[in-house]
Amino acid sequence: MANPLSYLSDQLAEWKKEGTYQRLRVLESESAAVSRFDGREVINLASNNYLGLTTHPKLREAALAAVRSFGVGSGAVRTISGTMKLHMQLEERIAAFKGVEACVVFQSGFAANAGTVAAILSAEDHIISDELNHASIIDGCRLSRAKIHVFPHKDAAAAEKILAELDAAPGRKLLISDGVFSMDGDIAPLPGLVEAAGRHDAIMMVDDAHASGVLGRNGRGTIDHFNLYGRVHVQVGTLSKAIGVLGGYVCGSRDLIEFLYHRARPFLFSTSHPPAVAAACMAAFDVLEEEPERMKTLWDNTKYFKAGLMAAGFDTGMSETPITPVIVGEAKAAHELSRALFQQGVLATGIGFPTVPKGKARVRTIVTAAHTRAELDQALEAFQKAGKSLGLI
Ligand SMILES: *Cc1c(COP(=O)(O)O)cnc(C)c1O
Repeated sequence: MANPLSYLSDQLAEWKKEGTYQRLRVLESESAAVSRFDGREVINLASNNYLGLTTHPKLREAALAAVRSFGVGSGAVRTISGTMKLHMQLEERIAAFKGVEACVVFQSGFAANAGTVAAILSAEDHIISDELNHASIIDGCRLSRAKIHVFPHKDAAAAEKILAELDAAPGRKLLISDGVFSMDGDIAPLPGLVEAAGRHDAIMMVDDAHASGVLGRNGRGTIDHFNLYGRVHVQVGTLSKAIGVLGGYVCGSRDLIEFLYHRARPFLFSTSHPPAVAAACMAAFDVLEEEPERMKTLWDNTKYFKAGLMAAGFDTGMSETPITPVIVGEAKAAHELSRALFQQGVLATGIGFPTVPKGKARVRTIVTAAHTRAELDQALEAFQKAGKSLGLI
C-alpha cells in the first residue's frame, strides 16, 4: 500500500541533500551561559535568556513555593475555572510595571499575538505590517481575515503612504510592528510609526518580545525607550525571553483587556499557566526592579561582543541590540559555521530560509548578562577560527 505521507520523506531527503536539514540539539543541563548540549559543555549564544533569569534563585524559590501551595496545574481554561489568584496578581504586576490600565497573560507570546490580532479585527479591516514582523503576528493577521498590507522593513513613510491610501476605505486600520526584530536585532522606528498611526486614526500595536527586559528603564520596553506612553494602544510582551519563564501578555486599556477576556481564542480555549509559571514570572518583575545591574551587564557584554565580531571582519547587519546576526549568505554556509562553532565549544544556531530571506542566512548570536568576559573572548576566538577555516573572513 502506498504511504500517503511519502511526500514528507521526500522533502526531508531534499533538505538533507541541500544541507539545511536540522537535528535538534538537546540541552542536558540548565539553560545558562555555559550549558551542556549533546554531551558537550558549550558557551550558549543561542538562548533568549538575556538577564540570566532562567536559573535565578528568587524565581526558583517562587516556583517551588507555588507548587507546594497550589499544585502543578490550573485545571481549566481561564474562563471556566482556571483563573487562579496568582494569574490575576501577575496581570496586575505587569500592568503596574508597564504603566498601563490593564494586562492579560497568555500561554505564550505566540498565543498573545495571534490571539489578539485575530480577536480585534475582522474581514473588512486592514492591517499595515512590517515585512519582517514575527510569524505569530503574520498568523494572527491571517486568522483575522483582514486585508494585509506589508510595508518595507522599518519604513514609517511607506507605512503612512499605505494608511493615507486607505483613509477613505471602510474598516479599521491596525499598524503593527515588532519593537525589536528577532532575526536582525534592529529597533523599530516607533516614533514615526506612532505619528503615522495617529494622523490616520489607526490602532497602533507593538510586539516587544525582544525588548522586554532589554530596552527602556528596568526593561520596560520600546514604549519607555522612546517615551511614547499613551501612544501605543496594544503592547505585547513575552515572559519567555528575558523574563526567563514562559508566556506572553497584552497591555492596554481596561476595555481592550476585558474584550480579549471574552474573545481571544487562546485565552478561551487553552488551559492557563501552571501556578509555578505565574509565580516565577512575578518574581522576575521584582528582579528587574531590584537588580538593574543585570541590564547594564547585558549591554556591556553586547557592545563588547559586537565590536569583537566586527573587528574580525564579520557582517553583523543592522543590529542595535543583544541579538547579533553573523550574516553569511547561503543557508548551507550558516549551518556549516554553526557546526564548526559547536566543535569549538560554542552554540550559535544557523538560520536560513524561510525564517530569514534567501541569501541572508546567518548564525544568530545572543549574549546574556550571565556571560563572563573570558567566555566572550573564547567565543570570539572560536568565531575567528571557524570563519577563517570556512573562508568567511
Ligand atoms: C519569541 C517571539 C514571540 C513569541 O514568544 P513566545 O513567548 O516564545 O511564544 C513573539 N514575537 C516575537 C517578536 C518574538 O521574538
